[in-house]
Amino acid sequence: MSSSAAGDTEHVVVAEAHPVIAGALSWLLREHGYAVTAVADREALFAAIGRATPDLILLDGDAVERDGAILGQLRSDKRWHDVRVIVTAPWAAVEDGGAGLPWGADDCVSKPYRVPELLGRVRTQLRASGQLRAARAALRDTAAELERAREDAVSNRRLIDILHEVTGELSATEIYRILARRVARALEISHCSVVLARPGDVVGTVAAAVEDPSIQNVDIQLDHYPEITTALESSRPVLVEDARIHPLFAHMRDLWVQEGKTVDIRSVATIPFSIDRWRAGVLFLRTDRDERSLTSEDVDFADIVIRAAVAAIRRAQALETTRADNRRLEALATTDPLTRVLNRRALLDRLTAEVDRARRFSSSLSLLLLDVDHFKQINDTAGHLAGDSVLRQLGALLEDAIRKVDIVARYGGEEFVAILPETALDGGVTFAERLRERIAAKAFDVGAEHPVHLTVSVGIATFPSPRVASTEDLFARADEALYRAKSGGRNQVRT
Ligand code: GH3
Ligand code: MG
Ligand code: MG
Repeated sequence: MSSSAAGDTEHVVVAEAHPVIAGALSWLLREHGYAVTAVADREALFAAIGRATPDLILLDGDAVERDGAILGQLRSDKRWHDVRVIVTAPWAAVEDGGAGLPWGADDCVSKPYRVPELLGRVRTQLRASGQLRAARAALRDTAAELERAREDAVSNRRLIDILHEVTGELSATEIYRILARRVARALEISHCSVVLARPGDVVGTVAAAVEDPSIQNVDIQLDHYPEITTALESSRPVLVEDARIHPLFAHMRDLWVQEGKTVDIRSVATIPFSIDRWRAGVLFLRTDRDERSLTSEDVDFADIVIRAAVAAIRRAQALETTRADNRRLEALATTDPLTRVLNRRALLDRLTAEVDRARRFSSSLSLLLLDVDHFKQINDTAGHLAGDSVLRQLGALLEDAIRKVDIVARYGGEEFVAILPETALDGGVTFAERLRERIAAKAFDVGAEHPVHLTVSVGIATFPSPRVASTEDLFARADEALYRAKSGGRNQVRT
């Protein structure tokens, strides 16, 4: 570093063998405001410029420098190759000061000196030296700026990568795991975990830890983690650059000594986050003794990442809630609240679709219309609530009896419908017979002393068949068949 960089006084070394000339030059230069060091030979010169790099050397080209060795060494050494050198020599050949400068000097002055000329040349060289220094400093600043920009770009790219990964449609647990892994990798640290806890909690839960992927939902005692509780309570990141001296760890250090533990922690940082009223915690960064210390830049980086992750989790949750709401609404719109089988509206939609399908694939389907025999009597003897219970149990029995592709619905009161795709009339009759027998055999529990027994009448229609071209036709034919079953004595299947 140049001695003049610290202040405004420029430093000139006078390397002059003759003590009278050296004294006169030094006095003259000091009178003009320069700091001067006088040396008489080569050794003293290098000793002086080794202590402090001067701005200018006035080099005696007669006695001190004779063969260009000194200038050669100055120019080849990084510390001095920018130092201006004016050679002073008695030669007539250097009078013009322009051409043929000896040994690569910046300028030369002939002896004996003319004072105004000497001072003028010193000033010129020092001005040039100052400009060079400023240019170099500007270049250094630019290089540093570029380096910073490059680092920013790298960290932004890491950030974008991570955000991209955590903002996809993922569960909170998956997001925690990715978060810990990616932050650890981006910051090149060995420990990073997500600890779930709320302010005031005694126990926290490690949701994910990069150092041990098997750790999941492991509880930790928070009184051993002042960095976590402090971050949670203050809602601000905590950075402990050196765990050996940070006051936050004073109590823990005492405890470690008492327990005879050697603790390998260099630094820790905790960045608090809060997803909703129930889920909050910290992103927990840690480095060991053999790693670097964490910095406020690390904390800023982690903070941006965790905030983006929280936003992603909130979004995922809102989406999940909306989906669940939609599923609930959809279920409400299509199921019968008493029996939980499909309601009449949904039945008509499904039947239309199934008839279309049968038409397209030239297959057949059967429709069963099923009505409980003398249901009024059940209501009258066991009560309306018992009647409801019987209907619920009958719905469950029907659901249980059908294949996966079949559809059961409550058509009205105590009437049910079953749609059997890919089923012709005889298949439908066989199924209906078995169902009738199974219902007749069942004891319906209505919470009374005696269970209820009942029978059903079933009417069947099939698509395609004569007089069946639509869903309306199917219902009309099945209804006619049901009427025949009723009038034929009930507890029977008719087509
Ligand atoms: P049938 O053998 O001729 O079918 O005689 P039924 O008594 O079953 O006569 P119908 O089918 O005409 O009457 C059905 C009865 O079912 C009428 C109604 O009180 C009763 N019912 C309809 N919906 C419900 C319900 O949701 N809960 C209860 N408990 N009873 C119902
Ligand atoms: Mg009825
Ligand atoms: Mg009935």
